[in-house]
Amino acid sequence: MLCSAHFNVPSSLFLRPLNTSQLTTTPNFITTLRRANPTITCNSQPSPKPRKRPAMDGQKPTSRNRRKSSYGASRRSILKKTFTQEQVNFTAPVSDDPVVGIIGGGMAGLLCALNLETRGVRSTVFDTGIHGLGGRMGTRIIDPQPLIFDHAAQFFTVSDPRFAELVQGWSEEGLVRQWLGTVGELEAGGHFVPLPSSPPRYVAVNGMRLLADSILSQTRMIDVVRPCWISKLEPYNGMWYLSENGKPRGQFDAIVIAHNGKCANRLLALSGLPLIARQMKRLELSSIWALLAAFDDPLPVPGSDGFPLEGAFVKGVDSVSWMANNTKKLLGSSIDGRNCWTFFSTAAFGKRNKVPQENIPSAAAEKVKAGMLEGVEVALGLSEGSLPRPFYTRLQLWGAALPTNTPGIPCIFDPQGRAGICGDWLLGSSLESAALSGMALANHIADYFQNSGLNAEEFAVGLHKEFQPLEGHDIGQFPGLESEKKGSKAMEYQLTT
Ligand SMILES: Cc1cc2nc3c(=O)[nH]c(=O)nc-3n(C[C@H](O)[C@H](O)[C@H](O)COP(=O)(O)OP(=O)(O)OC[C@H]3O[C@@H](n4cnc5c(N)ncnc54)[C@H](O)[C@@H]3O)c2cc1C
Repeated sequence: MLCSAHFNVPSSLFLRPLNTSQLTTTPNFITTLRRANPTITCNSQPSPKPRKRPAMDGQKPTSRNRRKSSYGASRRSILKKTFTQEQVNFTAPVSDDPVVGIIGGGMAGLLCALNLETRGVRSTVFDTGIHGLGGRMGTRIIDPQPLIFDHAAQFFTVSDPRFAELVQGWSEEGLVRQWLGTVGELEAGGHFVPLPSSPPRYVAVNGMRLLADSILSQTRMIDVVRPCWISKLEPYNGMWYLSENGKPRGQFDAIVIAHNGKCANRLLALSGLPLIARQMKRLELSSIWALLAAFDDPLPVPGSDGFPLEGAFVKGVDSVSWMANNTKKLLGSSIDGRNCWTFFSTAAFGKRNKVPQENIPSAAAEKVKAGMLEGVEVALGLSEGSLPRPFYTRLQLWGAALPTNTPGIPCIFDPQGRAGICGDWLLGSSLESAALSGMALANHIADYFQNSGLNAEEFAVGLHKEFQPLEGHDIGQFPGLESEKKGSKAMEYQLTT
């Protein structure tokens, strides 16, 4: 199902239908060109016709024209394709009213769209989210109780003035507020040390997903298409053509990859963007299990000055790295005594117990759940078997949870291919780094457009930047927070774009 949110402007202005006369020669035409030329040049002139007409999207495949789907391909073959594909080169002048296709509606993609609009550039955001936008800003609400859990990002801190300005605006709109509950470090055995109240900790008032869904609500030049899984990018005739399993999803003057992991690697493997694809392939990601558990009664947790802990980074327990009472955090009090807790595993536990996240075997799920609940018991210093039984649980594996390395640069942009990447991992592993990355890429693309795409090479950013290890908590970085692990060089960046 396509659910498209339009913001007061006719959608026809944004998601333009493909020109069918172009479409009939588009999809595999480029493959033929690639074989002939080391560099694919896309300009506004009609390109020569291929000698043999290969299979088109929607055309019944025959044994002669059938191509193996890259989505069924092994990691090894994806790698091979990544490194052997030729570079696409757009040479036509940029249109006067360009449109950017943004693939990914997490914090980075949303902020990229928002800042493109600020610079007068239209965009369409595509996101796979069924319930809403946000990606790793996930909130699960179960009616009718209701039970509410942020099941990825829990809270955030602010260190950059540009992000601070944004957060200030969200705060004035009532979208975010400070989390004043007791948060600290919990050592195995129930030893709790609260963190100082500074820097302020922010939470989304109604859960992270609702913040994500609100970010573009006042915009005029952005179209949102979800749920939509962009499965193919094809450069043709000076434009990028996007499609979802053969269904055309529009044509764009430039594209932004605002997601990462396996999905991005597959999408880029045959895109004509080898430099971008290579940088994406360098990214390493952790895996984290999330256990959502609702209890009838408050858990026996330690606290500070009579205030029981609401959130804690857990130390010295293999299966748990974070726990938070999301009912207290989001609603301020428990509902009928009911408390919704989000528990995250450590990255080491996630790696050791990794399974396909779309299809978790029930034996693995039981083992992980038992291990994590036992970890909670140990962390709280409770005797064996004394942790109250949750009346609701849900387990989720974040298979591509957090970056463990980074190029430490706000964004990557390939001016020849008119394609960029934004995301948390370019700068760190936090909502702030995702936001800054999206903002930086938007400004960079707007500058590039303003220059009419001339002197393209001057706009190349981050295509050869080396990666370095990224430190932080297992659930990411919280700039300014006392307990942050030291030594993260990656955060010592300068936003140059
Ligand atoms: C368990 C966990 C806990 C965390 N806790 C915190 C925290 O407390 N504080 C904090 O600051 N950060 C935290 N983080 C990190 C934070 O969530 C991320 O840094 C941030 O949300 C990343 O945003 P993003 O836009 O870069 O990527 P994402 O949020 O991953 O967004 C990418 C989006 O692209 C979509 N997408 C992917 N492929 C396609 C496609 N082909 N077509 C269309 N759409 C596509 C995805 O569905 C997703 O919606 C946590 C992360 C995890 C996993």
